[in-house]
Amino acid sequence: MGALIARRQDWRLLAVCALAGALADVDFLLPMRHRGPSHGLGAAAMALALTLAVLSVGSVRAGRWRTAVAVGLAYASHTLLDWLGADSSTPQGLMALWPVSSAYYISGLDVFNAVDRRYWMAGFWARNTVAVIREMAIVGPFALISVSAARRASSYRRRGAAPPPV
Ligand SMILES: [Zn+2]
Repeated sequence: MGALIARRQDWRLLAVCALAGALADVDFLLPMRHRGPSHGLGAAAMALALTLAVLSVGSVRAGRWRTAVAVGLAYASHTLLDWLGADSSTPQGLMALWPVSSAYYISGLDVFNAVDRRYWMAGFWARNTVAVIREMAIVGPFALISVSAARRASSYRRRGAAPPPV
């Protein structure tokens, strides 16, 4: 039963981190500029603080800092990945350093293709399909390694042993 709970907690944390990693794009639903304050590292710090506050109210207090940092880093990964990608909108980039700065930053490396939102244009589906395949090819191996490492650590915890150093 303990192993099942540990595994369920791992998957719940993975789901929360996945949600935190996508949360910056909530600005699509709000009357605000896309890639604005929600894409800043300040927003990631707020996600960390909010997670810590919620966990501090609850009955489970062990590991709350580790969980909050994981959620904050997951949120900040969105900032990093958008900064690495191409952007065809104006202004290009994102408010990566909000609230310290409202300037827009972009790496210029174009690691990821720009996502096309002009669904009425010819080639919309082809361009976005290529963009998704490219993103999955780049990010997918890192995600698989992370899930594998989490499962391995969970397995060691179930057996009451410390995982070997990486
Ligand atoms: Zn974004």
